[in-house]
Amino acid sequence: MDKISLVIPCYNEEQALPFLYEELVRVSAKMNQQTFEFIFINDGSRDKTLDIVKELRRKDKRVRFVSFSRNFGKEAAILAGLKASEGDYVAMIDADLQDPPALLSEMYIAIKEESYDCIATRRDDRKGEPIIRSFFARQFYKMMNRISDTKLVDGARDFRLMTRQMVNAIIDMPEYNRFSKGIFQWVGFNTKWISYENIERVAGETKWSFWGLFFYSLEGVVAFSTRPLAIASLFGLLFFLISLVMITVIITKTLIWGDPVAGYPSTICIIFFIGGIQLFCLGILGQYISRTYLETKHRPLFVIKETEQE
Ligand code: UDP
Ligand code: MG
Repeated sequence: MDKISLVIPCYNEEQALPFLYEELVRVSAKMNQQTFEFIFINDGSRDKTLDIVKELRRKDKRVRFVSFSRNFGKEAAILAGLKASEGDYVAMIDADLQDPPALLSEMYIAIKEESYDCIATRRDDRKGEPIIRSFFARQFYKMMNRISDTKLVDGARDFRLMTRQMVNAIIDMPEYNRFSKGIFQWVGFNTKWISYENIERVAGETKWSFWGLFFYSLEGVVAFSTRPLAIASLFGLLFFLISLVMITVIITKTLIWGDPVAGYPSTICIIFFIGGIQLFCLGILGQYISRTYLETKHRPLFVIKETEQE
């Protein structure tokens, strides 16, 4: 009998949890050939999420939980859940029912019978999402796939069912700056994609602001591509070549026509322009150095305050 672990990161999800649990009970009743464990990761919620989870645990021993000492972010919650999981197959699922648990049986059959290592999901539209956000998300995927060897799938969700072998590979990735979408791709294995229509969250509200997403995408770029560093060097080379041409031109001009002092506006423009490019490139460098700095500290990715007692 196969055991399936469901990893559910929760941050202030008191409103969504009852709906989710109800759905999980329904799905697990249908999949009666498999056993389940529902691992709720309380990511430092400030509402009643932990109380609700504990209450569920009292009624249902399949419910397990890990509670963080503060909010560490969804990436940390996913990792904690994967580490805590004991099942032969593990699925990550959002607490807000944007990942329909009903798909699990289909995913399980596919992984079992078609011998995939992973069944991943994507949404084939971005219905109900702000237009600007969709636009930038699309640009991000386009750019990422151009500059990184790790190809990301547009609209990919974190909702996926994986074999124990793949889960172990993910847990073994020691990096501090975790960008899961990239990590899932990076470890390889046979992945089957299934898609479904975008579903809006059942209750509560999204934890992502526009800028939150923006910095998260930067995380992805720096974690899975060093191309920006090459671009910075290219700028350097380009300006060096331009300067060679300019030096030649200016020296020749001075020798022929002398040196009437003028050209304040052009000088200022050039200073601003080159100065801007330099700061931009320094910024790129800074991004990589700061990540290196964080990695070398070897801080734990999360601190657990409490787990379920036997
Ligand atoms: N989440 C989390 N920690 C955070 C932010 C979010 O564990 O710091 C969880 C959240 O409870 C939810 C999932 O990650 O189960 C996805 O979050 P959300 O629905 O806000 O993101 P969206 O679906 O809008 O991308
Ligand atoms: Mg959501």
